[in-house]
Amino acid sequence: MYESFDQIAFSLALIARGFHARGWVIGTSGNLSAVVNREPLRLAMSPSGVDKGELTAGQIVLIDERTRVLSDHRAKPSDESPLHVRIVKERGAAAVFHTHSIWNTILSDLHAPDGGLVIEGYEMLKGLEGVKTHAHREWVPIIENSQDMQALAESIGDTLRQHPHAHAFLLRRHGLYAWGNDLAQARRHIEILEFLIEAVGRASAIRG
Ligand SMILES: [Zn+2]
Repeated sequence: MYESFDQIAFSLALIARGFHARGWVIGTSGNLSAVVNREPLRLAMSPSGVDKGELTAGQIVLIDERTRVLSDHRAKPSDESPLHVRIVKERGAAAVFHTHSIWNTILSDLHAPDGGLVIEGYEMLKGLEGVKTHAHREWVPIIENSQDMQALAESIGDTLRQHPHAHAFLLRRHGLYAWGNDLAQARRHIEILEFLIEAVGRASAIRG
């Protein structure tokens, strides 16, 4: 049973403003979506070109799986909408959030030659769904960035199938994508991963 579009739109705007306050989606960066209906697929999607610190529920767009706008207003959905659709389909996710923090941008580049970022040994890992111990080893795949959204969606699909236990992935010099079985879980995953990525980055900077 999904919440109504209005309820979901309200929640997405609230979450976006919260992420903006943390510095994770400054300006018009980042985007958020949530499933309104699974079959046929209907997504509540943040609009393109709107400052995330000022996002309101009325600006959230309803789209179908080909990212066509179904809601009345003329707003354009985020350019990255096809990536959200792909993640929802691959993972059965109910919500997908994407952030552009300084630390996820830096580490997505530094660790790109390895194909991903390892995070292990941190208590905060237990905030990821299904993780029971700090000894968990989380592999966050890193995918080359592209402005070709269909090609990028294909790369994401391949990566998610190669790493069925991954909770998130990074786009190189771009940002973090995480998802969840509901809005609260997706938000938690972003919060946990932003914390962990920043912790890994700061620790390596201090060690030199
Ligand atoms: Zn982005």
